[in-house]
This record gives sequence, structure tokens and C-alpha cells, in this order.
Amino acid sequence: RLKAAKEAGSRDVLRSPICCILGHVDTGKTKLLDNVRRTTVQEGEAGGITQQIGATYVPGDAICMRTEALRKGKEFELKLPGLLIIDTPGHESFTNLRSRGSGLCDIAILVVDIMHGMEQQTMESINLLKMRNTPFIVALNKVDRLFEWQAVKDAPIMEALERQKPHVKAQFEQRLQQSILNLNEQGLNVALYWKNPDKRKYVNIVPTSAISGEGIPDMLQLLVRLTQDMMSERLMFISELQCTVLEVKVVEGLGTTVDVVLVNGVLHEGDTIVLCGMNGPIVTNIRSLLTPHPLKELRVKGSYVHHKEIQAAQGVKLAAQNLETAVAGTQLHVLHKPEDLEGLKLLAMKDMEDIFKSVDRSGEGVCVQASTLGSLEALLEFLRSPAVKIPVSGIAIGPIHKKDVMRASVMLEKGRQKFAVILAFDVPVTKEARELAESLGVRIFTADIIYHLFDHGRGCLKRCGGGVQVKDAEQEAAKGDAVFPCILKILPTCVFNAKDPIVLGVDVVEGIAKVGTPICVPSQGGVDLGKIASLELNHKPVDTAKKGQSVAMKIEAQTTTEATRLYGRHFDFKDELVSRISRKSINLLKDHFREDMSKENWQLVMKLKKVFNID
Ligand code: GDP
Repeated sequence: RLKAAKEAGSRDVLRSPICCILGHVDTGKTKLLDNVRRTTVQEGEAGGITQQIGATYVPGDAICMRTEALRKGKEFELKLPGLLIIDTPGHESFTNLRSRGSGLCDIAILVVDIMHGMEQQTMESINLLKMRNTPFIVALNKVDRLFEWQAVKDAPIMEALERQKPHVKAQFEQRLQQSILNLNEQGLNVALYWKNPDKRKYVNIVPTSAISGEGIPDMLQLLVRLTQDMMSERLMFISELQCTVLEVKVVEGLGTTVDVVLVNGVLHEGDTIVLCGMNGPIVTNIRSLLTPHPLKELRVKGSYVHHKEIQAAQGVKLAAQNLETAVAGTQLHVLHKPEDLEGLKLLAMKDMEDIFKSVDRSGEGVCVQASTLGSLEALLEFLRSPAVKIPVSGIAIGPIHKKDVMRASVMLEKGRQKFAVILAFDVPVTKEARELAESLGVRIFTADIIYHLFDHGRGCLKRCGGGVQVKDAEQEAAKGDAVFPCILKILPTCVFNAKDPIVLGVDVVEGIAKVGTPICVPSQGGVDLGKIASLELNHKPVDTAKKGQSVAMKIEAQTTTEATRLYGRHFDFKDELVSRISRKSINLLKDHFREDMSKENWQLVMKLKKVFNID
């Protein structure tokens, strides 16, 4: 059956599921991939494992061989032709692998280091997996690091565990429970795969060692079982082409090429293809269909195998003209009938247009720019999430040019400085764009790795400079109108100037006196005097004076009426001076200066609210 399925390219059965590896740095993602490749290759030619563009194909035969010890002679009904594992582990390739709005990746392996448990990027990975609704298993890796672990090379994990000393088993159990608890805290139901009460509700954990190979058979078998048993509909081979652009790359001698994952269907040399381009659809012909040379020794740089035809699922490099503006993370289409051209062009642009449509470009917000459609989409989702909520008014893919800076500068014209920002991920900024941004006052924040965004949840933007400065700018803008509360007592012997600008010595009885604060006299029917223009404490200028301090204060009139106010006639030392607050100024304090306000100061605001009859 297997052979038949293989020969037929499994047209009648299922296609190979596409599998991604995610997890924190150094948990062993690359090593796990190496292990799957190495052991199967070592076990002989029949393994037929092939290195592809951006992916490794593990055929059914190799999976059968690798899981033999686990099955103990029992048959394993393999309905899949194999597994296509994406070679680049991590967030980027995962976010980039999208297909018609959903994740292209059928199943993922989340790698957790048993010695470290939950780490920052483990949580980010979980969020990404949840966001894309991608099923996954947890590889609890590095079991061989448990103290006095006895290596049982490439053994099924239960067999390896049984051979361990009691204290090693106890250690394993303790770390496992800790990991389970951590994952529970992330809102996940998890269970060791052989103890899983309900595979649809609990995420499976498989303990592994990427070094000595324990648990690798279990991991492969689990990936196969979960995909073929639970996703058969999704994995049905269809002749309709399903092909996603992974990367756009310039290759010496070939020009601009695209690396694609061919999920379903067949590609031929000479096919007319339609792709999504930055400036509109691209229609071109496949000049070459390429895969790496299978024999590693012969693989000199730039040497590829040319194919007349390639069938799914595979990672392939395509060479053709006009690929320079192709957008990574979009679908590739093949034109069979000339009359379909216009329809395919629309289809090719649809993913990008849907994302562009999701942004209100006439509204207010920051501009976001990313290297691929997948990362742009992930960023937008992130910025929209309730914990972040940063409005976006412009988006683009690719390097930042002057026109992008111009787009962001529209916010300056609207008087929304805080949104005159470009958040750029994994894209270069041209020199001209940087210079223009500096002269216009548009801020560009760059981060090279998308997951830096996710690093500390809300704090992510701090890492790339965004959050903090956006907040600072907001505070700056609010400063003029925010009013801190204070009650001041005039020192009768220190009246230096009775009329505008009024200059007096005062005691700060309560609250904070700040430069810019409007001052009035409630006991005289709320006579306004003007705003605090300057403060001096011990003959030194200060911005703020706190409760208990005595300062010299200059009050400048803001209106012609205020300019007529006279000490001794409209008010005198028996009157208290207070901050003139309003509903608006209170809201600004709440929104932007919460951290700067003590409980006592809020109580003072309440008191002044009554004085000014504010609801
Ligand atoms: P990645 O950053 O997740 O891709 O991690 P790597 O695969 O590069 O592994 C990081 C380090 O951990 C390397 O030094 C590996 O040799 C080591 N490592 C990975 N897996 C295992 C394992 O199962 N056991 C042990 N002892 N070390 C491992």
C-alpha cells in the first residue's frame, strides 16, 4: 500500500502534512530536525529522505523504519506519503507560512527544554499557535540531561524511561509535572501522549532527546497519527494547485527566484504562473523548477537539480522573470486557460488586499511595515490585541522608502504627533527615507526579529522603542492640558508684584504646584489669575513644588480679564489659591499620568471637584 501510495504520489490518498518547529532559543529545535534527518539517512538508502528547498521530506518508508521499535512488529497503517518538515525553525517561518488566510502549517512541534520549562518564546509560540489555530505537540526535549540518565539510543521513550534508576524517574516525573503546570497556566490542557484521555482536548507531550534519540520514534508516530486520523479532510490530495511563496531570493546566475512550498498539485517547467506583487499581480513563466542536489558531496554552491515537473508536497525553487516584487507569504497560481487570467490576477492579489482592507487608512494610527505578508499579518493581529491596542493607519511590505515616511507624516499634519511613527520589522530603511524622517519628525522603530515584538507582551514595543516613546509623546501632548491639583497659601510678606505678572511667595499646602498650572481663587467666586509661568525654590528655578515647600511663583495672565487681577483688591493673603481643574483635565490625568499621582493627590482632586462643581 505504501509503495503504491508513493508511486501514485498518493493522489488517491492523503498529501504529506506540513510540519513546523517552534520554541525558545536553544531548546533543541535544530538538533531535533537534524536527528530526524540523520538517523533516517543513516539507516539506508531506502529511507529516501530528501533535502528540499526550505524543507526536509521524510517519506513514509523512513517513518516506518524509524518507528519499528515502537510498533514491535505490529502493523502501522500509514495513510500518508510522508511528512514535509519546514527546515527553518522558529516564529518567522511559521508566521510566513500562510495559505488562504489560515496557517499553511498542518501541525507544529513546540519544543520545550525539560530542564528549563516555560521560557519567553515558548509563550510567544503558544500565542502564535493559538492565533493560527494550529494543532501541535509538545516535545519535552533534552531528557538525557536529567542527572544520571542512561542513554538508550533511539529508543521509544517508555522503554528508555523504564530502564532509568528510580531517582532519575522521580526527577523526570517532577520536571514533567512542573512543565504540565506551566502549560496549564498558559491555558492549555496537556498530557503525556500515552496518558492522554482525549486527543481532541489535550495537547500531547512527548519526551525526547535530540542527542541520543529517545522519544524520536514516538514523536514521528504521534505526528503521523494526529494528522492522518484527525485531519484527513484537510490533507486530502487534490489536484488543484496550492502553493505558497516562502521567500524571494536573488541567486547568482538565476536572478530573482522564489522558494515555494508546493502543498497540493503539480508544477511544470514552462507553466504560466500568477503571483502577488507589491505593485500589482505578476504574470510570468517558470523558467526552471529546482531542488537541491540530492548527493551532498556534489552540492556545490548554486548547483541545483532541474525538473520538468514537480508534485506536492515539496519545497521548490522557481526561477522566472519579473519576480523582483513578489510578496513572500502569498499564494502562487498556475494559468491553464487564457480566459482565466483576469480572475487569477484578482485571486493572487486577494490575500494582500484583504489585509490592506482590514486597515482604516483614512483613520489615525501608526504605520507598520514588514518583510512578508505573513509577518505583516501577525503584527497587525498583535497590535490589535486587547493588551496592546495600537491603532494602525498605514501598512506596507518591503524596505522603507521616502513615500512611506510621507505617508506616516500625514499624522503630523493632523496634529497627531504620537502616531507619526513607523514600526518596521525585518526591513531595511533607505538613507533618503531616514533623512526625510529626521527632517519631518517621523519616528522609525525597527526590530529585526518579529518575535522581539512578542517578547514581553505589551512591553514588546518598548524593545523596539515604540511603546515607551509613543507613550512619552502622548504625555507630552497631554501636558499642556493636564492639571495637577494643589492648594497654595500666600505669604503676605512676600508679594513682589501685585499685578500681571503676579509674583508671590507661597506655601504648597497640599498637592503639587507645576509650571503651566492654571491658578484661581475659589473664595472670591473663582477668580482666575493665569498660569504658573515659573517657580523658584531657594532661588533656583524648578518645574514642580511639592506639599510642604515654600516657593516664589510667577503667574502670567492668559486673558485680558486675568491681566486686570490685582493683589489687595481681587484677592489677598487670606485667600487660598488652587489649581483650576476641569472634567477634561481630570481625564487627562487619569489617562496619561496615573503613575505620577499619589493617592493623596487623587483625594485632593476629589476635593477640588466639589469646589468647582464637577460631576
Ligand atoms: P535551537 O536554538 O532550538 O535550534 O537549539 P539547537 O538545536 O541549536 O540546540 C541548542 C543546544 O542544545 C546545542 O548545544 C545542542 O547540542 C543542545 N541540545 C539540543 N537538543 C539536546 C538534547 O536533546 N540533549 C542535550 N543534552 N542537548 C541538546
